[in-house]
Amino acid sequence: MLYATHAEINLHALTVNARALRERAGGRKVLAAVKANAYGHGAVNVAHVLERRRLVDWFGVATVPEGIELRDAGVSLPILKLSHSFPEELAEQLAAGITPTVVDGASAVLVARVAGDMGRVNVHLAVDTGMGRIGCTPEDAVPVARRIDELGLVLEGVFTHLPVSDTPEGHDFTVDQLRLFADTVAAIQADRAARGLPPVPLVHGGASAAVLGHDLAGLTMVRPGVSLYGMYPDPTTPRTVDLEPVMSVHSRVSMVKRVPAGATVGYGRTWRAPTDRWIATVPIGYGDGFSRLNSNVGRMLVNGRSFPIAGRVCMDQTMLDLGAEDDHGVRPGNKVIILGADGDQRITADELAERARTINYEVTTLVTPRVTRMPY
Ligand SMILES: *Cc1c(COP(=O)(O)O)cnc(C)c1O
Repeated sequence: MLYATHAEINLHALTVNARALRERAGGRKVLAAVKANAYGHGAVNVAHVLERRRLVDWFGVATVPEGIELRDAGVSLPILKLSHSFPEELAEQLAAGITPTVVDGASAVLVARVAGDMGRVNVHLAVDTGMGRIGCTPEDAVPVARRIDELGLVLEGVFTHLPVSDTPEGHDFTVDQLRLFADTVAAIQADRAARGLPPVPLVHGGASAAVLGHDLAGLTMVRPGVSLYGMYPDPTTPRTVDLEPVMSVHSRVSMVKRVPAGATVGYGRTWRAPTDRWIATVPIGYGDGFSRLNSNVGRMLVNGRSFPIAGRVCMDQTMLDLGAEDDHGVRPGNKVIILGADGDQRITADELAERARTINYEVTTLVTPRVTRMPY
């Protein structure tokens, strides 16, 4: 059953984006960030496509249930939990084969305690080079890396994260961060060599923005997320790779009617018909993730034409102003594009983000579960 209001997930676009980013990463391994239900695109479908077409090497999740969802769906590539784990979730995490992130000495001890006699458990060490979120300081990195070995864990990866790699103003800070990270990794590797241990194989940093706009020297893996889904991290991020949007959001006109001049439409009576007016109702609202900040300022496409939103976005429905004349051609049942292209018109996630005073990431991530995802 194809529900009127649904999101289409273009798996061909996903494949094209992944291929292009992989090429841009130049032989490095690729971890696909599929947290938050693959930024709203449906983590299981996305992961299956990327795994079966051998487009990525790792998946990154934010929570243990996100990782378990992938394992239950048969995903077999390694999965990294990109953040610290609380003690009570570690047993389940390790049992599901979701690699933990160690953020300091204490978290290494915790993982080792839960790992117990599970054999040698791989971990990745997060180093905070300027994000200020998780990870040990660069100075602590060698002692924490040693602690990981002493505890019988296997240090498989070292990584960092970059807060301003997406803008020109952030370029120099990012370059300094990457240099600090490279020095930190060199110290870890030298310390290991002195103890007769092989180098840590996975050295990763670089979300989409760094892949698109920075020198990745020294990294053996990158971690794109938003770019896989066809969006640029920031309008100013260099468009070194052509990306194709993966998600589009669709609905259908449920009703078309005429209202007299002076009549109001919607909650709060914030829109008043300037003349006799044609109004269409579309069954999508903030309960589907269509921001209420689109009230009276947003737009939708019907039959390749753009129509402004009349009044407030409701939880489940939104009204469009079709104009004064009956030449709008809009009929009940007509397809409506909320996000995506229709003819030569396109509403981008960036446009919706600007209107909702947020970023494209949030636009797709906040499409709610009641909007069926239709992969094609
Ligand atoms: C979400 C995330 C990414 C992916 O970031 P994008 O900007 O979406 O490419 C990479 N690394 C970490 C640690 C993340 O949390």
